[in-house]
Amino acid sequence: MTTAIYPGSFDPITNGHLDIVKRASSIFDKVVIGIYDIPDKSLLFTVDERVDLARKAVETLKNVEVIAYSGITVGFAQKIKADVLVRGLRASSDFEREFEMALMNKKLAPDIELVCFMANLKYQFLSSSLLKEIIKLGGNLDDMVPIHVCIALKKKLLP
Ligand code: ADP
Repeated sequence: MTTAIYPGSFDPITNGHLDIVKRASSIFDKVVIGIYDIPDKSLLFTVDERVDLARKAVETLKNVEVIAYSGITVGFAQKIKADVLVRGLRASSDFEREFEMALMNKKLAPDIELVCFMANLKYQFLSSSLLKEIIKLGGNLDDMVPIHVCIALKKKLLP
């Protein structure tokens, strides 16, 4: 039984994240989406809102669970007995930061293996922060987020 944790801030969850979740859930027995409660960046959604949006997005995936966590990611991974840490890599923007974090995580928790999925070509440009800009400017988020996430973004960002 291999358990994978996919950690992040998910502010909010996007179709890019969901693409990684689906691919991971077809390889690993169980995937836990770990929602980091207070990352060192400004957030639009509370941790409870981010958890609810993610749960609704994965409700049809039976081996996927969503759990909020505090503190260091590998500590949470050890607590839930995860074997694998999953991350998604978009072209150019993610590699250096992920590489640095991976080396630190390996030092802190040598037994947890990192598996990086290359972001799907159609979601390479997609980030939670870009989505917020698009919504504010009145753009269309079709095929970027599930419909309930689009509604939640509009509620938060539009007058
Ligand atoms: P963090 O704050 O840890 O970067 P994010 O919620 O931004 O958390 O992202 C979580 C993970 O999902 C990271 O590994 C990130 O690189 C990956 N990711 C973000 N957007 C995409 C996307 N469009 N396609 C694939 N992976 C993505």
